[in-house]
Amino acid sequence: QNRTLIDMQSLVSDCIAITLQRHHLPAETIVLEPTPGIVRLYTQGIAEDLRTAVLNVLDNAVKYSPEGVHIRCSLAISDYTWVALRVTDTGVGLPANQFKRIFTRFYRVPGRAMAKIKGTGLGLFLVRNIARQHGGEATAISPGPGLGTTISITLPLAAPASSAITN
Ligand code: ATP
Ligand code: MG
Repeated sequence: QNRTLIDMQSLVSDCIAITLQRHHLPAETIVLEPTPGIVRLYTQGIAEDLRTAVLNVLDNAVKYSPEGVHIRCSLAISDYTWVALRVTDTGVGLPANQFKRIFTRFYRVPGRAMAKIKGTGLGLFLVRNIARQHGGEATAISPGPGLGTTISITLPLAAPASSAITN
């Protein structure tokens, strides 16, 4: 398929704009924090698929934050090898025993608070598959129920072709 060099800041910005529009949210409800000292972060892959993954994560962040959405997105480099997108919301949160399960097919966290929010349990299964198809991974973490959730998508960092040219 169509593998290209993907500028993660611009991909995430596009996804934020789409999500704001879809949910009729004011611009300040979803922010992409600047990455200190970094101009551009690239990964190699299928832009359309990565967009689908990021849109799913943002959609969840909005959907599972029923009282007042505020979403912070950040991009960081780790080990000179990975680019990590983190999406932190102010929503219903998760107990630790759900961090892994929510990525499995058709799985939805049981309980009354969650049952009111509709879904099929496929979004994060797709997100994790897309991350893995790119040689990366998707993970979840939360300080606990009611305390918000952070979903991370980690992808191999790619250098743009121009940076390999030395003379
Ligand atoms: P859909 O297929 O429409 O995405 P879904 O949102 O239920 O349905 P997933 O996106 O796979 O399915 O998420 C699985 C479950 O993980 C959700 O049902 C929800 O219980 C939990 N979950 C996902 N994202 C969050 C979040 N940001 N905060 C709290 N719980 C979440
Ligand atoms: Mg979902």
